[in-house]
Amino acid sequence: MIDLHCHSTASDGRLNPTDLVARAAAFGVTTLALTDHDTLDGLPEARHAAHEHGLTLINGVEISVSWQRRTLHIVGLAFDAENTVLTDGLATLQAARTSRAERMGHKLARAGLADGYARAAELAGAGQITRPHFARLLVADGLCRDMNDAFKRYLRPGKPGHVGIEWASLEDAIGWIEDAGGVAVLAHPFGYGFTGTWRRRAVAGFTQAGGHGLEICTGTTHIDQESQAHRDARDHNLAGSVGSDFHAPEQIWLKLGGVRALPSSLPAIWDHPRWSVG
Ligand code: AMP
Ligand code: MN
Ligand code: MN
Ligand code: MN
Repeated sequence: MIDLHCHSTASDGRLNPTDLVARAAAFGVTTLALTDHDTLDGLPEARHAAHEHGLTLINGVEISVSWQRRTLHIVGLAFDAENTVLTDGLATLQAARTSRAERMGHKLARAGLADGYARAAELAGAGQITRPHFARLLVADGLCRDMNDAFKRYLRPGKPGHVGIEWASLEDAIGWIEDAGGVAVLAHPFGYGFTGTWRRRAVAGFTQAGGHGLEICTGTTHIDQESQAHRDARDHNLAGSVGSDFHAPEQIWLKLGGVRALPSSLPAIWDHPRWSVG
């Protein structure tokens, strides 16, 4: 069983890389990519755990991209994690995350959340500070009912805790991944709240920028969405990828490896000529 998209405490996941890999193995995953937001920091620990469990770990990352005043997520897979073009590029995003978190802390203080930045930084530990960390604080302080409520009322564009940020360009993100010898996959095409027109536009822009694959099966897609994504991939000659986007055991509707198999009529990203297990 293959799962090419999940998160650890190196970003907004709730399990450390060791526990994440152990859980993946227990659920029958044999090939796993750890794809934390804008960081490779979880990979060495995950690799060690994968070795213990006899599981194949694929180097992965989920890069935040600003495109047409929207955010896209580009999953990089099977790259050389020592490549400095990639690690330098990610370092700029990590710095942007820290300064965004500081500004979010200030804005959320005015909306009633005390000491947000320091507390989010503490929750994140050595990992990247993400909006879900602030969402957890908003829930813990009783300002929000749940994570979804926190995003809806505080953290989305136009809401009091939102801070706009310029992430990587699409060309840069794909370029960093290519330089490191990996493949670039447009993550969860149905996860952006786009209309069909914008989804197809994003797939076209991604293809034009040199992208290699499209996520077809995720932990939350319906079968009809997967058929749509399948057509998008065929239209643009993209390979297909699969990934649960697992973040936490509390997401009981979603499990590691809990994705439908890629239709055999679509070339798989792991059969791409650029794919090398690094
Ligand atoms: P960031 O990259 O810091 O802006 O955070 C984005 C992350 O927030 C995504 O990767 C999701 O994991 C998470 N997220 C987005 N919307 C929601 C939501 N409604 N409820 C819970 N988590 C969300
Ligand atoms: Mn996330
Ligand atoms: Mn994502
Ligand atoms: Mn993700």
